[in-house]
Amino acid sequence: MSSSVALRLPSIDGLLRHPACAPLAERYGRDSLLTGLRQLLDELRPGVLSGQLAAVEIGAEVLAGRVGERLAQQQRSQVRRVFNLTGTVLHTNLGRALLPEEAIEAVQMAARYPLNLEFDLASGKRGDRDDLIEGLIRELTGAEAVTVVNNNAAAVLLTLNSLGARKEGIISRGELIEIGGAFRIPDIMARAGVRLHEVGTTNRTHARDYQAAIGPRSGLIMRVHASNYSIEGFTARVPTAELAELAHAHGLPLLEDLGSGSLLDLTRWGLPAEPTVRQALLDGADIVTFSGDKLLGGPQAGLIVGRKEMIAKIKKNPLKRALRVDKLTLAALEAVLSLYRDPDRLAERLPSLRLLTRPQAEIFAQAARLQPLLADVLGEVWQVSAVEALGMIGSGSQPVARLPSAALCCRPQVSKRWRGRYLLNLEAALRGLPIPVLGRIGDDALWLDLRQLDDEPAWLAQLAQLQVDR
Ligand SMILES: *Cc1c(COP(=O)(O)O)cnc(C)c1O
Repeated sequence: MSSSVALRLPSIDGLLRHPACAPLAERYGRDSLLTGLRQLLDELRPGVLSGQLAAVEIGAEVLAGRVGERLAQQQRSQVRRVFNLTGTVLHTNLGRALLPEEAIEAVQMAARYPLNLEFDLASGKRGDRDDLIEGLIRELTGAEAVTVVNNNAAAVLLTLNSLGARKEGIISRGELIEIGGAFRIPDIMARAGVRLHEVGTTNRTHARDYQAAIGPRSGLIMRVHASNYSIEGFTARVPTAELAELAHAHGLPLLEDLGSGSLLDLTRWGLPAEPTVRQALLDGADIVTFSGDKLLGGPQAGLIVGRKEMIAKIKKNPLKRALRVDKLTLAALEAVLSLYRDPDRLAERLPSLRLLTRPQAEIFAQAARLQPLLADVLGEVWQVSAVEALGMIGSGSQPVARLPSAALCCRPQVSKRWRGRYLLNLEAALRGLPIPVLGRIGDDALWLDLRQLDDEPAWLAQLAQLQVDR
């Protein structure tokens, strides 16, 4: 049985020698071609056996074409650039902050050449990678000392474990938060070996609640920025300065997880106020942790700043070695932080801040300019309009604050029962473009918020390829 089938499917050797396969071997390598051909023949064999496939479907040219498509697909990178037109600027699923040119150059340098990562050029002795950026971070935050790890979740874990293991961590019930991607304060505390001692209530926690919790087993007091939710109405929260006083009166450290951790007062750019790292330290927090790729606008990193002796303890923890940052991150972080030395030009130079502060009028003008072009491509089933819209900062910064923006709003002109399908098809078609375009569906329309449409030429260049299924 199998011998008659083998006669019908072309042989591997025959295919490899076929002129249609020669350019594929040249392009993708003989091994990849061989693997591709074997897989394809294996898949086709049952169809040949059952007589479902015709001779033309297994001709050498047809098979070469199919293998060629697969090899091209395989070669395409899985890490893809996209257009983030969701309206959320620091989108965790889309890679958060975009780096400034200075940081990109620094990353290239660090990737291409050996560097003084842990080598002190002055003494010729072994150095510490934190030393490369310690001075800069101290200058920008007023902290006594600094250490940097992979992300803020790692910063919180490491700090809790270093300062509170086998002791109790006192924290308000209103701050026991979960952040996207399974970061939950109670779980992190448990993993850090700190026993959770929750105090107060979800909406109100007073100084007397903390006071009552302090005892011989207490190791630290922790405060967490509520980040992605907000408590409104009948609320009470102890100011950091008062909490620090209480902690210090009992010899306990106060940790503050700021999350976004802005280095400068954002209200100078008309953005909603975020607590700054410097202010948290001035208020008496002993250790402050924050992310590198949220409002700071840099690479993914977790910064731990504060008291010298506590930072020294954190750096001695063996977990520090497991959570340390790599050279590319350090290079990028230094370049980004350097820009903060000149706040007047920061909004021009730091992409995340430039995008966050783009005036609504400018975004609206862009929407008005692009509206006829998109309307033309989508055809008359779609009503496309340039409208005002509200975006957000994202990454847990100011969850209720909205950024006045503008969008292309696409509404299918079909009966209500078909609208959902049309919207999903348009969404899929946009996602299928060479540079996928990501918007959001809401209120029976698909919205493309243009705040982050920087590279308009690239967006326009692929517009003609948009094909929406009905
Ligand atoms: C975002 C955030 C984290 C986690 O930071 P990553 O850098 O994403 O690891 C921790 N705590 C707070 C308060 C946050 O907002």
